[in-house]
Amino acid sequence: MAEINVENLKVVYRGVILALQGVSMRAGTGEAIALLGPNGAGKSTLVRAMAGLLPQYDGRVLDGKIVINGQEANHLPALKVAELGLTAILEGRPIFRYLTVTENLRAAAHKLSPQRQKEITDEIFTRFPRIYERRFEQGGYLSGGEQQMLLLGMALLTEPKILVVDEPSLGLSPKLTEEVMRVLDELRRDKGLTLVLVEQNARAAFSIVERVYVMEQGRVVFEGTAQEAQADADVMEFYLGGA
Ligand code: ATP
Repeated sequence: MAEINVENLKVVYRGVILALQGVSMRAGTGEAIALLGPNGAGKSTLVRAMAGLLPQYDGRVLDGKIVINGQEANHLPALKVAELGLTAILEGRPIFRYLTVTENLRAAAHKLSPQRQKEITDEIFTRFPRIYERRFEQGGYLSGGEQQMLLLGMALLTEPKILVVDEPSLGLSPKLTEEVMRVLDELRRDKGLTLVLVEQNARAAFSIVERVYVMEQGRVVFEGTAQEAQADADVMEFYLGGA
């Protein structure tokens, strides 16, 4: 089982900024969904809340529920959420810039036995040949696309069941964006992962998800299949900037 349910979630920053005003969404086992919407809609806040990574002094869940595989996860810290099988790749490509690719991977694998660590690292190097080629390079010297692949590799080393990826296409060329989407789709199919993709690039997301939630100003303003979203002129024009 690998499902996540969010029910009427309200998150407040600094006691006054209501970043999520009652958001509900779900992703079932093996399903791929996208959270779409403009800057500031609350997508990253939702990702952080799911992952147990709201900024400690700034942000808190005011109301509502996050349920991961039937277990309430509202107030769990990130490590506990990870134990439930949810791994989030946050916005901004948070790798260790002064560590090599191999060291970054090793840092992500701390919970695994040496044997399992080797198996998954071999798999990563097969899936991402470019990461293998650059394995002795420092993370900071990788291109944006390579950093995104490295982050996916690091995520695989946590053996996720639910993978949440925040804005993987940010700053990437259309060709690399397509490549990242293809890899995410492959991972979901091969491993039966549940994928929650957060994107401002709606067109890229439509290529690999079944359902979408469109957010604006802390609310879900549209929920439906990728086809329904694309057929809805208002959604496309007003919320997705003519994607
Ligand atoms: P982006 O794509 O720019 O990340 P987003 O849809 O992910 O946009 P959030 O980053 O979740 O949106 O931001 C939602 C709202 O919460 C915005 O109004 C933002 O200014 C506010 N916000 C986010 N983080 C904080 C914080 N640490 N303190 C105060 N306000 C915050």
